[in-house]
Amino acid sequence: MRETVKPTDLLRWYDANARELPWRVAPADRLAGTTPDPYHVWLSEIMLQQTTVVTVKAYFLNFLQRWPTIADLAAAQDADVMAEWAGLGYYARARNLLKCARVVTKEHGGQFPKTEKELLRLPGIGPYTAAAIGAIAFDRPTTVLDGNVERVMARLYRVADPLPAAKETLRTHAAGLTPRNRTGDYAQAVMDLGATVCTPRNPVCGLCPWRSGCRGYHKKDAQSYPRKLPKKAKPVRFGVAYVLIRDDGSVLLERRPDKGLLGGMLGWPGSEWAETPIDSPPPAPADWQELSEEVRHTFTHFHLRLQVHVARATKEIPHHRGEFLARNRYRPADLPTVMRKVWNLAQPALEEE
Ligand code: SF4
Repeated sequence: MRETVKPTDLLRWYDANARELPWRVAPADRLAGTTPDPYHVWLSEIMLQQTTVVTVKAYFLNFLQRWPTIADLAAAQDADVMAEWAGLGYYARARNLLKCARVVTKEHGGQFPKTEKELLRLPGIGPYTAAAIGAIAFDRPTTVLDGNVERVMARLYRVADPLPAAKETLRTHAAGLTPRNRTGDYAQAVMDLGATVCTPRNPVCGLCPWRSGCRGYHKKDAQSYPRKLPKKAKPVRFGVAYVLIRDDGSVLLERRPDKGLLGGMLGWPGSEWAETPIDSPPPAPADWQELSEEVRHTFTHFHLRLQVHVARATKEIPHHRGEFLARNRYRPADLPTVMRKVWNLAQPALEEE
């Protein structure tokens, strides 16, 4: 006979198998009374949106070293934060991160509010993040539903509806399992189970504390959940990027508008990104060379193909876009990934010239 799914079984498993993460308080320490720092929980949750744990670890530690408290982050220069975020993608997160740090510092005395309702009023905090902070930082009985949790619930209950329509059913199942005690550990335990045992491919059911109550396991079709609608093919967009370097080594860069893709980040002057290849005048008169290879990059909603033009110029060159950045202040690591790819392609060609 199939057993019921019990949160206590999962918590016991978590006590022995919790991942060690730099923003996490280990279950034994938590049981001994150590509480997580809400600043760490919030920062990690914002970084983890659409980004893997492996990638986030280094960024998280760099941020903490540079801005140890939320007040430090609130007082940071926008450009420094955007540069430190470079490479993590989804740059609206970084702009909202700063806004949120400033609101919490100015309006909440540097303390995060505890309820989901209040958390939701902060910049960049949506329902998932509010629930995660509420549970992990404050042990509130919120229901945290990320991709890992959705997968676990879909398999436990063999939810036949495809995502995203199945979301509310999955949420109801997740809410039904959320215990009254140790809600922070429980939320992290379900996420860990999804990330390490109930993985998208080849779930390791033999190690799962919920195996005896799992419908997908008993029917031997767990891996076919969650059901998903077929994905639409991503469209391709085209653009042009201009890399200009002066004899004194400075490079011509421009800050992208705050709104829109890569908003607020540094980049190479260039064209709009359009559905068909378009011409765009260069940012300065120079002997431009078009590279035979192009840069390809995939964003969430489209593939981008960038044609790259490079040129060298003297110090006196006039330009009508962007600003020259001195070579000793230019760090390719401060650029978003697509712009870094442009530089990686352009640099050898410029050195040959
Ligand atoms: Fe996932 Fe298998 Fe555990 Fe079911 S038994 S929740 S499919 S790992």
